[in-house]
Amino acid sequence: FAEQGFDSDTGDSVEAARLYADTEQYDIICVNQQLKDEPGEAFVGYCNTHERQKDTPILFLTEDADLVAADLNVRVDGVIHELNESQIEDQVVHFIELHLDPVFYEGRILFVEDDDEVAADILGQLKKTGDRVSYFKSADEASAEIDAVTVYGSHTDAYDLVITKIFFKTGMRGDELVARIRSYEDGRGFIPILAIPDQNNDQRRIALYRAGVNDFLPKPILPEELLVRIGNLITNKRLLDKVHDIRRELFALATTDKLTGCQNRHSLMDYSSKFVSQARRHEYPISLLVIDLDHFKAVNDNHGHAVGDKVLELTGELLNKSFRDGDLVARYGGEEFVVLMNYCDGENARVKAEKLRVDIEKLKPNDLDITTSIGVTALEPGATGDFEAMFHAGDQGVYKAKENGRNQVVFVAVD
Ligand code: GH3
Ligand code: MG
Ligand code: MG
Repeated sequence: FAEQGFDSDTGDSVEAARLYADTEQYDIICVNQQLKDEPGEAFVGYCNTHERQKDTPILFLTEDADLVAADLNVRVDGVIHELNESQIEDQVVHFIELHLDPVFYEGRILFVEDDDEVAADILGQLKKTGDRVSYFKSADEASAEIDAVTVYGSHTDAYDLVITKIFFKTGMRGDELVARIRSYEDGRGFIPILAIPDQNNDQRRIALYRAGVNDFLPKPILPEELLVRIGNLITNKRLLDKVHDIRRELFALATTDKLTGCQNRHSLMDYSSKFVSQARRHEYPISLLVIDLDHFKAVNDNHGHAVGDKVLELTGELLNKSFRDGDLVARYGGEEFVVLMNYCDGENARVKAEKLRVDIEKLKPNDLDITTSIGVTALEPGATGDFEAMFHAGDQGVYKAKENGRNQVVFVAVD
């Protein structure tokens, strides 16, 4: 456990373990089935009902190769079998990854230093943390590396920390590297930076903080201080990553229709005016489809609401697959969908709508014959309509399609 960077307490009897459980709050409890006084299960049972430990993940170690968690009449969160030492270690690490916050994993460090001796010294220290280190000898190389990493919006897993000096023998300076990193508008802009300048100077330190350095470690380096500062910076980065992830999840939840996976009406209303004004400003065509399932009330009446829902879900899936990434596919209401297509003129939209009508007719969700009426409209370059006008035209198209006998596409021009 110490190798993984955890503090731990160890007892060899249920009696000793109970004392720890009474006084400490643990992130994980690991119990061997064979203990000196009583079976491990006795201690697990004690933890299960213990005020302080009842929610702590418990890992159970046993020599019995067939034992699974369900066989025990106490709650454990994982069982590992005593095969050999390295397998145990792998399984413990896997359990920790499953049950502990990623904030506790080892970090990924980008380290820049052009003095071989200093580099060897710091690399030696970093080895003790279990962090993964990529070492570069110049700020230019480090900068190229940061340029090349994969980024998911405001999140990058590539690095959790940059450690850099300030004055390199040649090339880019460390403060320039800092400024470059901070200029990224994606996740790279948030990577913590620890500066290790050759001399400590008040004005320079302030200038470095201004440039975006998070922390500062003057020479001579105290190894313990280096490790503590690195740990803190990486923890902060992980917490920030989590905030970004949660924000993204919440955003997806708030903008997506749960049943169909399409954008919801709220999202359509938010984006539609931007969609239209961009097209008008840059003078490219956009088109709109209003798609209404035919006689859908009969589907519910004849097969039940659950089947109706399934039909909507499968139709939504088809719609999501049928359009380009930059298009907006939304569920406007019950069995009515709206699609906004970028760079698509009226003629193309008509063709696209007709293909969609045929695809839906062929879909046969839940073996039912489902057809749609589709209203199409377009805003050609130079035209002046807004989203409301487009939607009105599309809706008129649906109305006419229904009047003419359904299962068809009708184009209506924007007024
Ligand atoms: P038309 O061909 O004229 O469009 O006939 P229709 O029956 O599809 O038209 P109408 O708009 O009268 O009925 C729509 C029906 O869609 C009414 C409602 O029961 C059903 N519906 C709306 N939302 C949902 C939903 O979320 N799930 C299910 N199962 N049905 C829904
Ligand atoms: Mg309908
Ligand atoms: Mg309808």
